[in-house]
Amino acid sequence: MGRADVVVGAQWGDEGKGKWVHRMARDYKLVVRFQGGNNAGHTVYHHGQKFVLHHLPSAVLYPQVACALTAGMVINPVVLKQECHALEKQVQLSAVRLWISAAAHVITPWHIRLDRGREQEQAKPIGTTRRGIGPAYSTRALRCGLRMADYIDAKRCAGWITQMQGEPHFAVSQREDRQLWEDFARAADFLRPYVCAAETRVRQKIRAGDAVLCEGAQGTLLDINCGTYPYVTSSSTLAAAALCGVGFAPRACGKVYGIAKAYLTRVGNGPFPSELHGDTAAQLRQRGAEFGATTQRARRIGWLDCVALRYAQELNGFDGLVLNKLDILAGLPAVKLCVAYQHPEQGRLLEFPCDYRILEECQPVWEEYEGWTAAIPTQGRIAALPPAALAFVHRIENLAECTVIGVGTGIAAEDFLVR
Ligand code: GDP
Repeated sequence: MGRADVVVGAQWGDEGKGKWVHRMARDYKLVVRFQGGNNAGHTVYHHGQKFVLHHLPSAVLYPQVACALTAGMVINPVVLKQECHALEKQVQLSAVRLWISAAAHVITPWHIRLDRGREQEQAKPIGTTRRGIGPAYSTRALRCGLRMADYIDAKRCAGWITQMQGEPHFAVSQREDRQLWEDFARAADFLRPYVCAAETRVRQKIRAGDAVLCEGAQGTLLDINCGTYPYVTSSSTLAAAALCGVGFAPRACGKVYGIAKAYLTRVGNGPFPSELHGDTAAQLRQRGAEFGATTQRARRIGWLDCVALRYAQELNGFDGLVLNKLDILAGLPAVKLCVAYQHPEQGRLLEFPCDYRILEECQPVWEEYEGWTAAIPTQGRIAALPPAALAFVHRIENLAECTVIGVGTGIAAEDFLVR
């Protein structure tokens, strides 16, 4: 029996998962997405060219690797079609290597309208990407969603549209989003050849002993169950979600890799104890190009939160952690780590509080380290880091109780130091 390895974000997303998956994917026969939709925005550089991918795993850039979008996902057909078109010059897509689950739920123009409406009406919006992701998962939970298999069957899709007429804002969407609905209908013809029982094929690959990699989107702290609810995404983002999103047994799970940044960012609202304001935040945002790949929103910036990282380690059990963007910290006179929280009533906390209100009241407890002025080497071994940078990495391993197996040192695909 084969195994499926899993890669997930260890923070609030945007950790650079795409780049590590792109690096690893060469060694796999199949790369699988298992949750989320086009709220993901992976930026990867392939042969020096920049690609931003939303549904497709970055492995799609390797012609020898198959890609599966499985049942745990929600898919915007129009965006997926555009994504495929944008890749046309670079890669040959065929039904042999792109599998879209018949069971994945479909994001319609109505779901997008609902998402926008809700975010605008809320006094304290979640800060979603407004791509209709949450509403699509909601109709899935209500058992009235549209699945890919129904979407690509014109008769069944029309039946679903008729059935939904009485739903809030549905008729308005059909009237006012006419162009979007036309594009939506048209994308079905393009996607139809790729729609299949993707999960069965994934399991067959696992059974056959082929190397399979499951690629998470967003990050652990945005998990709907264990994240900072309600400021979370609408799916489960943990490594365990791969098992449910695809459908394979726990014993078929191989290695689990976590991706983090050497500092922390968050898009959208919600508590962020180690958040920074002022010059250092602006400097890191600029140097790290911390603007959303999907929404262009400026990301909130903070020092690395090791309480949250240890929580991510506990939830996912990382066999290895990749620490990206260490290069962005080079040249700072000092760097900090959040090592505990101080709560006004509960005192010093070493465990990540699940109640976002408690987390909001927490103050960070810092450890400060001298910075490293020398630029860090971009390739080679982690041990070749300047002593101050190496000490920083070791302290993170120690606090988060995980092993750093890779350090990201630049935007190029090969810019990694390894253990
Ligand atoms: P993802 O959604 O987790 O894949 O992350 P994003 O695509 O939002 O963010 C990753 C961005 O950071 C991309 O532009 C990467 O090229 C860049 N990046 C990733 N790792 C590193 C690194 O180690 N150093 C630098 N400077 N940039 C990096």
